[in-house]
Amino acid sequence: MKDHSPLLTCSVCGRSLPASELVPFEVVRSPISEILRRNRPGWAEGDLICLEIQQVQMELMEEIASHRRSVEPEGLEGGPE
Ligand SMILES: [Zn+2]
Repeated sequence: MKDHSPLLTCSVCGRSLPASELVPFEVVRSPISEILRRNRPGWAEGDLICLEIQQVQMELMEEIASHRRSVEPEGLEGGPE
């Protein structure tokens, strides 16, 4: 559509942002959702997160690195961008 996107609210930080800067719950991979849920118990289906998801992805990678003795990272492809 050609009209500008309405502002939506990030469920994690509460800021209002254009839809283009938000990632919907269903697109967020489950390991990332797990971390989000830990920090934000309200994170649930239908929620949105802003680009700070990239930061969460980094947390996830650090976590995997520190647990890699017991947990094998399974094809963690695609970093931020
Ligand atoms: Zn946010």
